[in-house]
Amino acid sequence: MFEFRLYIGIMIFLFGITVGSFLNVLIYRIPKKEEFVKTRSHCMSCGYQLEWYDLIPIFSWLTLGGKCRKCKSKISAQYPLIELLNGILWLLSFLFYDLSITTLLYCGLFSSLIALSVIDFRTYEIPVGFNIFILVLGTIRVITDYRSWPEYIIGLVSVSVPLLLIFYATKGRGIGGGDVKLMGAAGLLLGWKLIVLAFFLGCLLGSVIHIARMKISGESHVLAMGPYLSAGIVIACFVGERLISAYFGYLDSLLAGFILI
Ligand SMILES: [Zn+2]
Repeated sequence: MFEFRLYIGIMIFLFGITVGSFLNVLIYRIPKKEEFVKTRSHCMSCGYQLEWYDLIPIFSWLTLGGKCRKCKSKISAQYPLIELLNGILWLLSFLFYDLSITTLLYCGLFSSLIALSVIDFRTYEIPVGFNIFILVLGTIRVITDYRSWPEYIIGLVSVSVPLLLIFYATKGRGIGGGDVKLMGAAGLLLGWKLIVLAFFLGCLLGSVIHIARMKISGESHVLAMGPYLSAGIVIACFVGERLISAYFGYLDSLLAGFILI
């Protein structure tokens, strides 16, 4: 049984890094509105069209030493890192949730989050296609777990509606419209408890890291929330249930302490 799990785990990781290299294509081409299926991948500096052996995830970048085969100009480490990250998140999904619908839905979610985070970080915009895709995953979740449907429907609105009010109140300066849609779509997939937790984790990470980055490098004050919200969502998917029950367990023991006094 262990050998079987190991085999499935390796296959999922390899499939994950392959999808990761497709994410690189999306990340590069969507903001430029390039056709992302028809045109072949090419070197950004010399236009050299990549052959199949240049496109093996992680491996090609490593063997080429991070340089173009023809003109030797540097190829960003972002490519293999995104492939690796997608592979790791897919593998973790399998380790946490086995072969299940949850694993399938989470793999789709994590890949979308990776791509939209990088695009949001660069352009301050989340392409709506990713949010629609996550909304579709959420709908599949509601259908396949229909007994708990209120959990998911409340998840759809519990964070997104308050954010929408902030969006209108600040005329879009307080929060981006893409962030509002992301929290709605992901809320439908995760349910209200996990999406509320994800939002708090995202804000916490966002404020800590953003302040640190401003202190260190004096970077711009514009904050792309997408990457932080995404990180919050990923953490909530893996350890959210445990964090929530630990928190309420702690509250219970506090309360019990008060009653004893
Ligand atoms: Zn080149």
